[in-house]
Amino acid sequence: MARYHKSVANIFARIADCIIPRRCAGCKKPHETLCVLCAQQSFEPWIRCFVCGARRTTGSFCPGSCRAKTPKALKKIYWAGPYDKALREAIGQLKYKKRKELAERLGKLLAQKFYAVFCNVRSRPSNTSKPDFEYVVVPIPLHPNKERSRGFNQALLIARVFAKEIGAPMIADVLIKTIDTEPQARIASREERLKNLTGAFAVSKSDFNSTYGSRTSIILVDDVATTGATLFEASRTLEKAGISTIIGFVVAHG
Ligand SMILES: [Zn+2]
Ligand SMILES: [Zn+2]
Repeated sequence: MARYHKSVANIFARIADCIIPRRCAGCKKPHETLCVLCAQQSFEPWIRCFVCGARRTTGSFCPGSCRAKTPKALKKIYWAGPYDKALREAIGQLKYKKRKELAERLGKLLAQKFYAVFCNVRSRPSNTSKPDFEYVVVPIPLHPNKERSRGFNQALLIARVFAKEIGAPMIADVLIKTIDTEPQARIASREERLKNLTGAFAVSKSDFNSTYGSRTSIILVDDVATTGATLFEASRTLEKAGISTIIGFVVAHG
């Protein structure tokens, strides 16, 4: 039955696409979500420090002042590309024009970063050797009010595709957002952004370590990170619950 509904939905989507063609969020080419060219032009295969932008080889923050700004359990943050041009437009259209199909391309682009970082290849290899740690994918949650008004959580849609691509389980309900905070984009200063999110998350799976093992790492997934306030606060919350290794993967940074 579900398959029937899906195929009917696909037929309607194709008819709608013929009448008003979907366009690439980047170059406006018709019948595309985010075309391969635009996605690849945005993609950065190299690794940089999230805090200062310096090129790194290990993927961690620069030791010293950059590391001092980040929670201890948050070991690394990777992002697929800069938050401008095609990625900014694609993420905006996903969230505000509800073009949910964009999550597929964005999730795959994020997985491409995963493979670039951990396997030193630009795309998914046919014979993948997985990193030597166990990990689960956790999307940054929205407050239930926000999720209700938007109709979906874009981070969850992206995380679902990403998790499938890298062959890891996604657990959507590890973290919950308990305070309906002011949107971060409306707050200018880094300090205010950090303050805005203080205490905004809670861990709903207090038995995470006993269920998944204390060596299990969490990969936190979000669409955008600017100052990193959301990833930092979510990591601090997980850290307090006993999670010792967290890696951030976000589609765009800037
Ligand atoms: Zn394009
Ligand atoms: Zn740095």
